[in-house]
Amino acid sequence: MAVLVLGGAGYIGSHTVDRLVSQGVDVVVVDNLVTGHRAAVSPKAKFYQGDIADQPFMRRVFAENPAIEAVIHFAAFSLVAESMEKPLKYFDNNTAGMIKLLEVMNEVGVKKIVFSSTAATYGIPENVPIKETDPQKPINPYGESKLMMEKIMHWSDLAYGIKFVALRYFNVAGAKPDGSIGEDHNPETHLLPIVLQVAAGKRDQLKIFGNDYNTPDGTNVRDYVHPFDLADAHILAVNYLKAGHESDAFNLGSSTGFSNMEILKAAREVTGKPIPAEMAPRRPGDPDTLIAASDKARKILGWNPQFDDIHKIIATAWKWHATHPNGYADR
Ligand code: UDP
Repeated sequence: MAVLVLGGAGYIGSHTVDRLVSQGVDVVVVDNLVTGHRAAVSPKAKFYQGDIADQPFMRRVFAENPAIEAVIHFAAFSLVAESMEKPLKYFDNNTAGMIKLLEVMNEVGVKKIVFSSTAATYGIPENVPIKETDPQKPINPYGESKLMMEKIMHWSDLAYGIKFVALRYFNVAGAKPDGSIGEDHNPETHLLPIVLQVAAGKRDQLKIFGNDYNTPDGTNVRDYVHPFDLADAHILAVNYLKAGHESDAFNLGSSTGFSNMEILKAAREVTGKPIPAEMAPRRPGDPDTLIAASDKARKILGWNPQFDDIHKIIATAWKWHATHPNGYADR
């Protein structure tokens, strides 16, 4: 059996490909390299450059790789702030892209898919930690595009029998512990890579977006999970579908929250660098607090995350950023 990984050259996709090939699984990767990096993809995977919405191309990928039994789909845009400015870009790439993909999967008879959803589907949570059964009311187009993907999956399961697992990630941070693959976005907008770029001397200072939120120190609280642990959750989800279980959605987080100020403090401790920071206005689309209840993934998928300490997570990211200040251009 082979697994098709869409968006396998991206941050989380490349860590998942690395985990899959280390377990001896045959992996086929599709990535259009708009945000991904060819150098991030394990040489043990078969690579195709192309777009998941290009149906003739996707038909060829399936035809040339008849061993594909399941799809893991990471190929999406994921920036909250950008989605507020360019909602149609998100509905087109994420939501319409999923429709094009499902049409081809149905045609070729590949009926298992694990896909990246997000905590952003919940919007402003009514309860913390957030459970999978809590209301999903996104407050930004990114979250809405992913919620629409979940709903499209639901109806495609009923109509065509395409079984899915939606994995709702909270905040992802860290890199492969040997420092060989990591996070490289251009432009970079995420908190931890920006903090570490300041530590590495690539930026002058961090701007903290808002200190008047309804949280203990006024800065946003987020729940951080390591891509190595996310990768394992995807592999467990593929096995769950292969065992014939029903479609479902799972939160992936650590169940612990850290404020932006706490992340900064921990990064100063890990790196030993001063990391100058100043307060800045709120960024649109940010809920006060996002913390996952992740016991469902632990119980049903058997997920057992290894990186449960924020200092350990930051140390892996620092190993990557300190040795690759220009990302994959330094490999
Ligand atoms: N953030 C910040 N300064 C930055 C980048 C991010 O204060 O330069 C904050 C952001 O407003 C949010 C948190 O860090 O409160 C996490 O943001 P990120 O973009 O990393 O992830 P998101 O929560 O949007 O998925």
